[in-house]
Amino acid sequence: MQGKNSFNEIAVRYIKGVGPQKADLFAKIGIENISDLLYYLPRRYEDRREIVELKDVQPGKIQGVMGEVLSKTVFTAKTGKRIFELVLAQGNKKLTAVWYNQPFMQKFFNAGQIVVLYGKVELYRRLQITHPDFEILEDKRLTNSLNMGRIVPVYSLTENLKQKYIRNIVNRAVSAYLKELKDCLPTQVRARRKLVDFRFAVENIHFPHSYDNLEKAYRRLVFEEFFILQAVMARRRKKLRKRGIKHEINTKALDDFEELFSFELTKAQKKCIEDIKKDMSGERSMYRLLQGDVGSGKTVVSMYALLVAVSNGYQAAMMAPTEILARQHYVTISKTFMPLGINVRLLVGGIDRKDKEKVKKELDSGDADIVIGTHALFQENISYNKLGLVIVDEQHKFGVHQRKKLSQKGEVPDMLVMTATPIPRSLVLSVFGDMDMSLLTEKPAQRADVTTYFVGEDRRALVYEFILDEIKKGRQVFIVCPRIKKTGSEDIKSTEEMFEELRRGVFRDVPLALMHGRMKSFEKERIMRDFRAGKYAVLVATTVIEVGVDIPNVTVMMVEHAERYGLAQLHQLRGRIGRGKHASYCILLGSAKTEVSCQRLSAIAESNDGFKIAEKDLDIRGPGEFFGTRQSGLPELRFGNIVKDFAIMEEAREEAFSLISEDPELKLYNNQGVKESIIKRFRGKWNAC
Ligand code: ADP
Ligand code: MG
Repeated sequence: MQGKNSFNEIAVRYIKGVGPQKADLFAKIGIENISDLLYYLPRRYEDRREIVELKDVQPGKIQGVMGEVLSKTVFTAKTGKRIFELVLAQGNKKLTAVWYNQPFMQKFFNAGQIVVLYGKVELYRRLQITHPDFEILEDKRLTNSLNMGRIVPVYSLTENLKQKYIRNIVNRAVSAYLKELKDCLPTQVRARRKLVDFRFAVENIHFPHSYDNLEKAYRRLVFEEFFILQAVMARRRKKLRKRGIKHEINTKALDDFEELFSFELTKAQKKCIEDIKKDMSGERSMYRLLQGDVGSGKTVVSMYALLVAVSNGYQAAMMAPTEILARQHYVTISKTFMPLGINVRLLVGGIDRKDKEKVKKELDSGDADIVIGTHALFQENISYNKLGLVIVDEQHKFGVHQRKKLSQKGEVPDMLVMTATPIPRSLVLSVFGDMDMSLLTEKPAQRADVTTYFVGEDRRALVYEFILDEIKKGRQVFIVCPRIKKTGSEDIKSTEEMFEELRRGVFRDVPLALMHGRMKSFEKERIMRDFRAGKYAVLVATTVIEVGVDIPNVTVMMVEHAERYGLAQLHQLRGRIGRGKHASYCILLGSAKTEVSCQRLSAIAESNDGFKIAEKDLDIRGPGEFFGTRQSGLPELRFGNIVKDFAIMEEAREEAFSLISEDPELKLYNNQGVKESIIKRFRGKWNAC
């Protein structure tokens, strides 16, 4: 945080009282040098400000008590335990402190010492305190104590490192090095946001003089951490939004866009289209995240962007995470655009080589206007004639890296990233903080309601009955299972087992299909097509149907072992139904064994609002789990918590973005501290961030 101050590199063992052995213990908890130590935040604090005299002791309470040592004894109890007893006295009051199995304690104490004990005082036949924290006041006064008579830090420790010891060492580091700490935040930012001085913050985070100071110190450290992160976001955003394509948007085709659809666009859709319009007609390239719950109509919005690019003579590529979804987009988009003379092409693994070659040629020559596909869009050696727009659907499945690769296929193509996993704003700002954002907050009106039930195994028979009823009415059903084949001894039904069981059992008179991720794509496609055509009433599948599948006649989704899915995923799955005019039902079958899984399943049963569910999920599972650890892009944080400290993050973001817009390369003298901190955070690579 403070640039190249030399003390950063000073190893902890150079602090008085830390030898090589202790240094090894410090290393275990990640502390190598002085700065590690200063940034080692207490896990919590104990309020030991009030130290009472013996006459004021209240039995039953945890408290600090001061008194004079009257006597000490070690004796062996009937059980063979060695017991050390220390008696404090004051006037005619006495208190006995007891330590079991620690006879060596006696060597610390002598009659006449003034000591402070901290712990729970109990009243048996006498006043007693067991295994208290203690401090012997050498000068008989409390003022210099690190352990008593103040708000005391409690650190996470490892074996053989004691609280008292680390407090002492931290205190030495603070007194010796505090004055060398440089404040990296620009003065105006500090003044505007009423942030305390950095040295004050470090001192008070360890040894706060009051809770008010502690809060100020914490806010200051967290602010700085977020500020640095957001400054990086701001820089990235600036870099990504280079001078780009300036599109003409007052064309007939675009004016008539709405008429392409049989429905009226929602207000939210119109607003998002406005955002895109501004981006694409502006000087700089678009880099926008379009967030909308399943079924909120993102595809329509993305089609507007496609039309802008194509009517300005550019090509556009749309990338979906699965073949099924790519095909579905292809069907929707080509149906609408082909009649306008726009050449829409599909490029996925499952099409045959000849067709693939043809599409590639058309992309190279410029005959193809729009291409929709999967990873194939950039994995193979494809060249575009004039790529101006890249749309990525269901973004959370793609890494940042892949996004970059695709955008490199054009000069400075516009980017629109769509996600149906509602991401709470706190996460958006910390992970996608470099993008602009549009939100589809409302759903098209005529969508059917989905009612969700969370039921236990005992209701299975009833669920089947209900499903058979729906089938009789002509509706269709998804049954989702977690796995393809049984693995290990876990009591999980595989998709195949489930399929067999149902086919021979309750659904023996019903046309049933099976689909899973390991099938060849042409097989999956055939099954999907037949299912859509009504050839099957029930589709037993893995989560391959998770994204994008749009079959209005499906009114029931039953999820086996629902407790095994994340909330976001369940919500995604549920989004596959309720796509028509019939009332729809999502039935989560599962056994919620833990409190947490019970909370989660109830959360999803109670709400249809993806954003609310996402917030809840984030709350219950924390940011790391929320995204799944791989490729999450979550920043490592030392101090701040993106959920709890969201308000601070927003302030820090505002300041960081305005700083970067005024001084993008951080050349001003005043901003050198920020620059150094960024460099430090990125291990010396200014241009990498
Ligand atoms: P998403 O991709 O956000 O899950 P889609 O774009 O696939 O949602 O839209 C879901 C369904 O709603 C599609 O069948 C689409 O045609 C329909 N739809 C989209 N916008 C509207 C609207 N404004 N009014 C009515 N139906 C709409
Ligand atoms: Mg979609």
